Formats: sequence, C-alpha cells, structure tokens
Amino acid sequence: DAAVAQVQGLIRDIPDFPKPGIIFKDITPLLGDAEGFKTAVDLLAQDLQGPMPEYIVGTESRGFIFGAALAYRIGAGFIPVRKPGKLPSDVYACEYQLEYGTDALEVHRDALGQGARTLIVDDLLATGGTARATGDLLRRLGAEMLGYSFIIELGFLNAREHMTDAPVHSLIQY
Ligand code: IMP
Repeated sequence: DAAVAQVQGLIRDIPDFPKPGIIFKDITPLLGDAEGFKTAVDLLAQDLQGPMPEYIVGTESRGFIFGAALAYRIGAGFIPVRKPGKLPSDVYACEYQLEYGTDALEVHRDALGQGARTLIVDDLLATGGTARATGDLLRRLGAEMLGYSFIIELGFLNAREHMTDAPVHSLIQY
C-alpha cells in the first residue's frame, strides 16, 4: 500500500553499525520527513482494533518518539520504560539477555492501575528481548496487554514466535 511504501522509502540501511556485519535500520530520515512521520504514526493508529489503549508504553529511546506521538494521536497516556537508574520513583526492573551479557529496563510501580489497557510501542522488533522484558514489566503492574506495535520487524529473527502473550503488529517486515 502507498502509505506503507512511503514510510519504507524513508528508512535507510547503514552497514556495519554499531559493529561489523550488522545492517542498521536508520529511521532518522523518516523522523525528519513531516509527511512520512505523520503517515507512520497514522498507520500505527489505524492498526488498532477493538478497545482503545488507555496507555501507550514506549521503550527507551526510539519507542518514546513513536509511542508519545501515537498516545497524543489516540488520546492515551504515555508511560516510559527506561534504562536502569533513570526513573526517579519506585520501580520494577526486568533483566534481559543481550548477545553478550544482560541489560535491564525499569518502569514506575505506580505508572498505571490494575487492568489498565496498554499497548507497547517501539521502532523495531529484532530478537524481541526488549519487547518481552517490557511485557514482563506490564504484567507485574497488572496491566491488560492489548498488544505490541512496531514500525519495523526483522522477521527472519522469528521474535514473534516467543511473544505469545499478546498480538504483534508491524508496519514493515524484512
Ligand atoms: P531486540 O531486543 O533484539 O528486539 O532489539 C530491539 C531494540 O533494539 C529496539 O529498542 C530497537 O530500537 C533497537 N534496534 C535493534 N536493531 C535496530 C536497528 O537496526 N535499527 C534501529 N533500532 C534497532
């Protein structure tokens, strides 16, 4: 479809970033294009079916950009999930595996009420480690998980096979 093609045309490949052998999907041309950025956020909103989320949860840091824009677009609140030590009040933390070692994500314990309808948003789904850690945090908060939405899915990594707790949507698959 033309809208998806417009968004896809604004994502560029950067070879060997952040290290040799990795082809990085760079979304900064999309962010810098007024029409394209708006189209991307509108497409995320169009994919929502059924009950609307009360909260969009965005993961640091590119999840903040699309997540906050989508929250504004649909009239939802925005909840940041952040790297350790950034959030000022009491947090839940979730560790997850990286290729080498571990990382962690945190969310405020009082970010939402029991059963609140939430949608997780990020720019890109690769291995799914980041998204699954975010999902774990939401379960600990007692949120109702409506799904995961991404601009880009690296489908060859098969992350969605391990994300069976809620529907996974992506605009563009590689
Ligand atoms: P995952 O945890 O392996 O699914 O990696 C997804 C996370 O890493 C997301 O938060 C992305 O922002 C980031 N990421 C991984 N690869 C890329 C890329 O090629 N372009 C942009 N972000 C990426």
